[in-house]
Amino acid sequence: MGLIEEEIARLMQKCISCGKCTPRCPSYEYGGVDPHEVMIGGEVDVSKCILCGTCSQVCRRTDPFTVMRDLKALANNLHVSDVYKETGLAMKRAEHPSRTELVPQWDGNDVYVMPGCVVECKAPFLEYAACKAVQSVGKTCSELKDSGCCLRPPQFRDIRETEQREILSKMVSNAEGREVITLCGGCTEALVGFGLDTTNMIMFLHNNIDRLPRFGMTFKVAIEPGCSCMSLKKEMIEVVEALGCEYVGNDTGCCGKDTELAPQMMADREKECGNGCLIVVACPKCFTEYDAIPDGMPVVYLPELVAWAAGDTGTFGYHTIPIRPDDEDFYRPRFEGHIPKKGKGMRW
Ligand code: SF4
Ligand code: SF4
Ligand code: SF4
Repeated sequence: MGLIEEEIARLMQKCISCGKCTPRCPSYEYGGVDPHEVMIGGEVDVSKCILCGTCSQVCRRTDPFTVMRDLKALANNLHVSDVYKETGLAMKRAEHPSRTELVPQWDGNDVYVMPGCVVECKAPFLEYAACKAVQSVGKTCSELKDSGCCLRPPQFRDIRETEQREILSKMVSNAEGREVITLCGGCTEALVGFGLDTTNMIMFLHNNIDRLPRFGMTFKVAIEPGCSCMSLKKEMIEVVEALGCEYVGNDTGCCGKDTELAPQMMADREKECGNGCLIVVACPKCFTEYDAIPDGMPVVYLPELVAWAAGDTGTFGYHTIPIRPDDEDFYRPRFEGHIPKKGKGMRW
């Protein structure tokens, strides 16, 4: 039995079949995986697991998320990629004009920013917004030196936990004891899971809520923290309101990541957000998913909203769905009079 199989067997043995994970699993709600069934060795298609981690947040006995991730790694024969070996990132860096056109103006070391793979590879302009957001509360910042992948994706199950911890500890030690801010909930969970002190961007902004800039007008926004930041929903709402926006109630859930459940999940999420003029997201992957929907609702990454309140809208030029701050019509609710129905999502 290999390393991964041993770990799966060990974790499965600890399941007491309480069944608490299943009703909280967003994939299950959409006809996808049943984590309890997986934990008792049932035949289940793990490709429909979105690796949100909710099952392990609910479970008090074992770690179904790790089992799902390991099974995915085995099913897809995933191994540490050559890209990671070359770049320290889980995926290839896409050519993106913002890489040279909108370079973050790092100015000091009050805090360090860890962008994570999605920002680094797919939407580098979001790091510019993060830098602006940090500076708007009066702190200086720089990118964490040798910042790479958080090792959460399934391909890294090849690497022993002790080695993973070593790699990540070394990375975080580059902050020399200063606060490290993660831009993605998955990164936060991975680092905190290894006992490494990091702050998710939502929490950083919330910790500095009295210093946030404020819009000169009020407009209605919906929010989607994303599955990995769902536990920070309350803080995210408070940050959005402190900026001067009106938060319109909506259910929240997951984008479905790259699974076949994603189109339906995304469509439901959009409907739930219809009372706002835009969706504020806290997860860079959510950002790229929402911003790719043809004729979809405009989407803004939380640090972009902060940068916007501080007067910097430089990142909007890189959005697929236009953000039009100077157009009065832009601030109308997307679906006038829309009443969100109880949708399928994750409830916290
Ligand atoms: S994985 Fe955890 S929550 Fe799910 S059935 Fe087993 S013990 Fe219960
Ligand atoms: S990681 Fe998320 S989608 Fe996968 S089984 Fe757990 S709760 Fe369900
Ligand atoms: S992109 Fe956002 S909502 Fe989607 S899986 Fe990741 S954290 Fe969850």
